[in-house]
Amino acid sequence: MELLPPFELLRPTTVEQALAWRLENPNSRLLGGGTDLIVNLRRGIGEAPQALIDLNQIDEMTVIAGDGAALRIGASVKLAALAAHPLVRAHYPGLAQAAASVAAATQRNMATVGGNLCLDTRCIFYNQSEWWRASNDYCLKYGGSKCHVAPKSKVCYATFSGDLAPALLVLEGEVEIIGRGGRRTAPLAELYSRDGRDYLSLAREEFVCSVTARAAPGLRAAYDKIRVRRAIEFPLAGVAVALARDGDKLGALRVAVTGTNPWPVLLEETAALCGGGVDEALLQRFDALLKAQLMAMKTTFTSGHYRRRAATVLARRLVRRLFDGGYMGETR
Ligand code: SF4
Repeated sequence: MELLPPFELLRPTTVEQALAWRLENPNSRLLGGGTDLIVNLRRGIGEAPQALIDLNQIDEMTVIAGDGAALRIGASVKLAALAAHPLVRAHYPGLAQAAASVAAATQRNMATVGGNLCLDTRCIFYNQSEWWRASNDYCLKYGGSKCHVAPKSKVCYATFSGDLAPALLVLEGEVEIIGRGGRRTAPLAELYSRDGRDYLSLAREEFVCSVTARAAPGLRAAYDKIRVRRAIEFPLAGVAVALARDGDKLGALRVAVTGTNPWPVLLEETAALCGGGVDEALLQRFDALLKAQLMAMKTTFTSGHYRRRAATVLARRLVRRLFDGGYMGETR
């Protein structure tokens, strides 16, 4: 690790002030908890910013409000606060599980919802020290011209590893974004692009102010993940499932996965699996959907094949347990 480069620290107290300072300082970076950003800056990853804009003093971005049908979560809410919030624990257990599963308590006390949603993509050839990357001639994501994972590729396959995105995607997550044109909302899935370099679809000055989750009556949701160690590590694979029963049949199903692709994957075509019971035949069709849509590459020390298989097992297990009404816990 190197010393932090010099920068100006700006502390806006309103969203509008943060935007104005962002426009005045195009080379600035936004600071949530800093648990990922500060590490990256000390590794010389990305351009050294002239200014950091700290979003933690903006009151409206630190509030959780709503009820059992819809929940608005400010982007500066700490992950520990989200995991412990009584409304979240009572009505959005999958979201509480995802927040509680991020890194360790130290990071959760600092890290924010917006930071986790906008977490930079990761790769073993990128999350390294400056001298390591320099000796490897850098790579396509930053500073170089070649991808070391897929040398002929023009696209970066660095992996998205945030835990909250899948838990919110299955709850019809919607982000509130502020930019030059004022505030706008968009489905959470639209926040992400499909290239690990420019992994967010935001304009340069835009940032996420809040995210909204929705839970229809009878919806059962949970999140589970697998990682090398239960503390600190990013997920090798993380899966969120939300489903509803229609009598003894599957009435609705939404599934989202992190830790495999450069974006959090909201599984397509799950509606075709509804209308029958949850049996082995259905789970095999479910496996096929996952296999077709997950594309884990060798961006971690664990193989892509293993992460895709792990995601499939987690997803199967969650669907079966939620359908049966069983308890969801984190996989060890
Ligand atoms: Fe770099 Fe390729 Fe890894 Fe992207 S996937 S960070 S371009 S080595």
